[in-house]
Amino acid sequence: MNTIDKYSNNVTPTWCPGCGDFSVLRSIKAAAMKLNIDNHDLAIVSGIGCSSRISGYINAYGFHSIHGRSLPVAQGIKLANQGLTVIATGGDGDGFAIGTNHTIHAMRRDIDITYIVMNNQVYGLTKGHTSPLSQEGFISKSTPLGASEPPLKPSLLALASGASFVAQGFSAQQDQLIDLIIKGINHKGFSFINVFSPCVTFNKFNTYQWFRENLIDLDKESGYEPSEYKKAVDKYIKTSGLFTGLLYKKDFSHVQDKSKEETITPMVFENLDIKKDFDELMK
Ligand code: SF4
Ligand code: MG
Repeated sequence: MNTIDKYSNNVTPTWCPGCGDFSVLRSIKAAAMKLNIDNHDLAIVSGIGCSSRISGYINAYGFHSIHGRSLPVAQGIKLANQGLTVIATGGDGDGFAIGTNHTIHAMRRDIDITYIVMNNQVYGLTKGHTSPLSQEGFISKSTPLGASEPPLKPSLLALASGASFVAQGFSAQQDQLIDLIIKGINHKGFSFINVFSPCVTFNKFNTYQWFRENLIDLDKESGYEPSEYKKAVDKYIKTSGLFTGLLYKKDFSHVQDKSKEETITPMVFENLDIKKDFDELMK
């Protein structure tokens, strides 16, 4: 059976009706189906938060880790079993507050995993307080007079930290999101996908309608070349980060013969024989 249903299990999501995370869940399943990934070859790792429940909603290996720690776990899984497709997931609070340090260093390490952040610019699970990605002026129970600090810029941080694939999606643009996840999985390095995934319950500012009015689609922009790092930085700044599509993809062709692109692994794996080391240790 190669339908999206093969990735469904019998756990019903407890997300609020209309939550953007439903679309991300479906997009991950659809991408896995299109890539024909067997259930036992897929690992979904998450941190803590509304979106991080996602690892329990997919019929694959799932690891619901601790707050901000999906990336160390995901990297460990990939190092131990390089044959697995590893997708780390979480929310903006998870990845860009308590987990920021791991996020930066995982990007710098550029290990072949895909990191999907469901960015709703608020802490949903703890009932709507301001996150590091909430807009300046955002009013919540924790900032009743409005957030006084500017938000982090996740994709710009990803570029600065060394991620070799940086993209942004929007829950209401599912076809594009599926395509980005496929490209991210196929990319042989750290792929970061920042998904604008509205929280319909606690973020009444960054709504579906607001994103429809404010996002531009890079994939529809003729002449934009995502392999050029400086242009990617420039594009982020010019759009204030309000775009969807592929912002940057590092060209590995100079590293190795293109015909062998399938075998390219990030630097950290190149001289590392995990199995051999493990066998040695177990002697
Ligand atoms: Fe989604 Fe927000 Fe509801 Fe959490 S509180 S499930 S993020 S809509
Ligand atoms: Mg959040």
